[in-house]
Amino acid sequence: MNGAEVLIAGGGPAGLLAGITLAEGGMETVILERRRGDTLPVACAEAVSSRLLRRFGWPKDAPWVKAEVKEIQIIMPNGKGFYIPDEGVCLERREWERWLRSLFEEKGGKYRWGGRFLDATPEGEGWRVRTEEGEWRCRYLLGCDGARSRVAQILHRGKRRWLLAIQYKFPFNPFQDKALRFYLREELPGGYLYAFPRGDEVSVGVVASKGGRELRSSLRRFLEELGMTPSQRKEFVAGLIPHSILLPPGGRRYLLCGDAAGLIHPMTAAGIHLACYSGQMAARAILEAREKKDPDGLLPLRIYTKSLPLKAIRPHWYGSNIHLSYLPDRILGLVGECLEGKPFSAYPLKEFLHRRALWPWVPKLLLMKRRYYRSKEWTW
Ligand SMILES: Cc1cc2nc3c(=O)[nH]c(=O)nc-3n(C[C@H](O)[C@H](O)[C@H](O)COP(=O)(O)OP(=O)(O)OC[C@H]3O[C@@H](n4cnc5c(N)ncnc54)[C@H](O)[C@@H]3O)c2cc1C
Repeated sequence: MNGAEVLIAGGGPAGLLAGITLAEGGMETVILERRRGDTLPVACAEAVSSRLLRRFGWPKDAPWVKAEVKEIQIIMPNGKGFYIPDEGVCLERREWERWLRSLFEEKGGKYRWGGRFLDATPEGEGWRVRTEEGEWRCRYLLGCDGARSRVAQILHRGKRRWLLAIQYKFPFNPFQDKALRFYLREELPGGYLYAFPRGDEVSVGVVASKGGRELRSSLRRFLEELGMTPSQRKEFVAGLIPHSILLPPGGRRYLLCGDAAGLIHPMTAAGIHLACYSGQMAARAILEAREKKDPDGLLPLRIYTKSLPLKAIRPHWYGSNIHLSYLPDRILGLVGECLEGKPFSAYPLKEFLHRRALWPWVPKLLLMKRRYYRSKEWTW
């Protein structure tokens, strides 16, 4: 039987950041990745904020950066809208993950392709883990295996909900600027359509809690508006995005990170930043617990839970409809008119009050703004 101090199920951003931190801390760490290689396209629009780059000290001109992002535009059904002056980049995600893998392996970590995690049973002061690659023993187990986490399914009792996302990537870019565009529609409650220009390409997609067929037809209509057709695509991907946080994010000698714990931003559905951060924090919690007495195996969970920004990305938001996309098209249009060409921070209360139809919505609009700014660090 194989052995490691820490076994990480899932070698995406959360697993890689956890692995790098653990290997740096001198722990014998193995990442088990279900895929057999990295040739398939990643289901992701690959946009991350400058805040993430700064947090990890990564440069904006790294070889795995595809394009710069200068601002965010929010566009209402009537074409009016506002912008958020927030910078970042679009990644070449496969290249970025290759680079992270090389960092992990340089520090002594082992990355196993084709190592799908199947189940785990407690054994002594650790786990006996069954994978497609054989059996393993480990002291700590990290579930970094994405939105449909098998680790969470087996070890956690929390209820999970998801949004569906589908996306086309086109080998040309009809947009002149470097703005990520989000299009809000009443027909997509809790979600949005998006167009992310990335140099000589553009990713166009849709996210919502709806079925695949409905999303595909929304996306097809949207592409028509942009003067594009699905047949021009170079790539099509689909994936699930968690729409509920699992609390506590782990248990005795196991922790859940990134999408596996449902750690995405409740307004934007972005999860790369939180995946990297939570992976790093879970690893630090295990390293800290190693130095202390931990008879019940729960110390890493206590340290890890405290380190997560749970106040900023309040779990109860998910069901509370505090999201612009839950407003009717007519109201979205009026908000767009009031804010047309202005930054989101302007939020012109006077203009809102000039439009009688907006009166009942003003408290909700103010609450949305407050929540956005409170959680801004994690929006993407
Ligand atoms: C279409 C789409 C667009 C998106 N766009 C953005 C965006 O622009 N910006 C942003 O911040 N977020 C975006 N997201 C969300 C983002 O992709 C995720 O939040 C992020 O990838 C989470 O990282 P993770 O490491 O937790 O999980 P993942 O990236 O899903 O990695 C999990 C890994 O675990 C592996 N795995 C799964 N099951 C097992 C198993 N049983 N055993 C072993 N390995 C397993 C998987 O193969 C995968 O490699 C998007 C999501 C979708 C679907």
